[in-house]
Amino acid sequence: MLRFLIVLCLSGVILQAQDGAGVPERVPYTNTRSADGFDMPVGKPDAEGYYRSRGLIVGRHLGDDWNGNGMGNSDLGAPVYSTAHGLVVYARNARMGWGNTVIIRHVFWEGFRWNYVDSLYAHLHQVFVREGQQVRRGQCVGSIGTNFGMYTAHLHFEIRKNLRIGINQGSYRKDLGNYHRPYDFILGHRKVSGGNRPVKVPKDTFRLQAQSVDEMRPGRIPAPREKPTPKRGDFKVNRYSSPLR
Ligand SMILES: [Zn+2]
Repeated sequence: MLRFLIVLCLSGVILQAQDGAGVPERVPYTNTRSADGFDMPVGKPDAEGYYRSRGLIVGRHLGDDWNGNGMGNSDLGAPVYSTAHGLVVYARNARMGWGNTVIIRHVFWEGFRWNYVDSLYAHLHQVFVREGQQVRRGQCVGSIGTNFGMYTAHLHFEIRKNLRIGINQGSYRKDLGNYHRPYDFILGHRKVSGGNRPVKVPKDTFRLQAQSVDEMRPGRIPAPREKPTPKRGDFKVNRYSSPLR
């Protein structure tokens, strides 16, 4: 019996090490609930009333910008929803180009194995969750903001393959090896099998998470380059702009 348990434990360790790219080895695991699907982070579940002013541009802009159809700051304070069930692994004012930022870690079943992604919600006006909190798909985690007046109100939303990134974007390749195209990822995962099960998820994967942002030396982390939100006219030629159905 003892021998069987030892084999079982060892196989568990090996399985964890083999799980998805971007999962650091030798980090503690904790519990969460597997995703049963992914929804849009605004106008839930289909982003009704919102449009994307920018999509992912490799090397430059690593997620989607969501704006309210009313344009300007009409969406200031509007609810931002967790794209799926998961665990809040970051909920702080990251300052610089990010502002109030929430990162949620998700586990989903695909390709006969558990996969992990982090969803990131930045420039928030308010944050309604805390680190370590379990959230459900569609749960309000914050509200749309301007990053303290730096931008016209919008949601910057990312889905990362690499669980190490956190707000330390400058240390990792800004490509599709580390990031999903959020809009396409969600459309391809509106419903996933194996959802609503208790599963293990790695935690403490951000190198800079242990430090509070105030302790970081200025200039140590390059601020993400953000351009002001384009006007509505620019958006119309964006191939990502077709309204969701
Ligand atoms: Zn953005």
